[in-house]
Amino acid sequence: LEVISAVEPRIAQATAAELADQRGSLKLIASENYASPAVLLTMGTWLSDKYAEGTVGHRFYAGCQNVDTVESIAAEHARELFGAEYAYVQPHSGIDANLVAFWSILAHRVEAPALAELGAKNVNELSDADWETLRRTLGDQRLLGMSLDAGGHLTHGFRPNISGKMFHQQQYGTDPTTGLLDYDALAAKAREFKPLILVAGYSAYPRRVNFAKVREIADEVGATLMVDMAHFSGLVAGKVFTGDEDPVPHAHVVTSTTHKSLRGPRGGIVLATEEYAPSVDRGCPMVLGGPLAHVMAAKAVAFAEARQDSFRTYAQAVADNAKSLAEGFLSRGGDLVTGGTDNHLVLLDVSRYGLTGRQAETALLDAGVVTNRNSVPADANGPWYTSGIRLGTPALTTRGFGHDEFDRTAELITMVLENTQPGTTKAGGPSKAAYVLADGIADKVKDASAEM
Ligand code: PLP
Repeated sequence: LEVISAVEPRIAQATAAELADQRGSLKLIASENYASPAVLLTMGTWLSDKYAEGTVGHRFYAGCQNVDTVESIAAEHARELFGAEYAYVQPHSGIDANLVAFWSILAHRVEAPALAELGAKNVNELSDADWETLRRTLGDQRLLGMSLDAGGHLTHGFRPNISGKMFHQQQYGTDPTTGLLDYDALAAKAREFKPLILVAGYSAYPRRVNFAKVREIADEVGATLMVDMAHFSGLVAGKVFTGDEDPVPHAHVVTSTTHKSLRGPRGGIVLATEEYAPSVDRGCPMVLGGPLAHVMAAKAVAFAEARQDSFRTYAQAVADNAKSLAEGFLSRGGDLVTGGTDNHLVLLDVSRYGLTGRQAETALLDAGVVTNRNSVPADANGPWYTSGIRLGTPALTTRGFGHDEFDRTAELITMVLENTQPGTTKAGGPSKAAYVLADGIADKVKDASAEM
């Protein structure tokens, strides 16, 4: 930090303050973690200074031999870790990984057959008229993904996101009574809509998915099954999700972030079958710019860590701790979407405390508990204010929390929510954002969490 401070002290100060915040609060954001010193240090090197557009052994720049080594090692670890036929480690984020996946599927399933029919090797050989027809065909495909309020991600066909604009999209939800994924309803929707791409995976669904069943549905309607395991890839890597719950043997293409339960650097990956590998491998420059060699190096280090037995112990603890957290809420009268959890996250409906998700989130933050507000199925408050709080166990499990600490965490959160009232706007009207936290509660919670 001294080196940084000599150039721009405000950045050194903000970095130091972030360390204090992350150590001094209860970090329950389900998509966050604490990467190891080895991962963090690997990101801060001169590998960052090298341009290497293209792919291993086929670069648009000279002198990429060391980046080739880094990228090959990262991809090898990813293949071994997940038992995948092919791994692409260049995506800079989860959204990038999903865009690479979408365009690779379109290239493989729509563009390649059209080129073959026209006797062209690549799109540059097409006449302007043929290219225009192909471009329109690419833009006329269908995607079916899980809706945002059922726990899906905005990249799964949500209209404000490019995925919702690129495709004709429809969404599937969960059973309105149980909150669980209804495979029969999904199959019926897929039969009717006939998507080219069926996306499974979630950001806020607290249950496991039977990917073998989803693959059957995809096969029946001729869809490519793409699973976005951004949230639970740590549980796949750590062999908590196996068999039908492991997406890798069942999906054609699997995407993930590397920084959530997988505990690596910020970034994304795409795994694919041999069939889809050649088009995914063209992710740069099809979708991406020059790869971040320093981050690919850090991914390799994180994957090497995740291949150790200790990571399996960690992943199991993440799932066990989520159960402890859920039971902690249920025993104190909490209302959980789907009634519990069997992955790394818990979705608490805060309506019974008379609060919106936004009010709950900010009251908890005052008490040093970092969570994020989240929609619940058929949310009456919409996606901005919401009615839920999403909580995840990956980060605090890395800090060594176990059953007792997570039970205590549920107790502290319940105490904050029971002692928070909705506030009013300056003009005195109802507000979905304003809240009043009872005196003394924030300090009480902060003192209790400092002892954990
Ligand atoms: N996919 C899912 C399921 C996610 O939950 C997220 C992030 O929250 C992403 C993709 C996007 O990841 P990133 O923020 O790295 O682009």
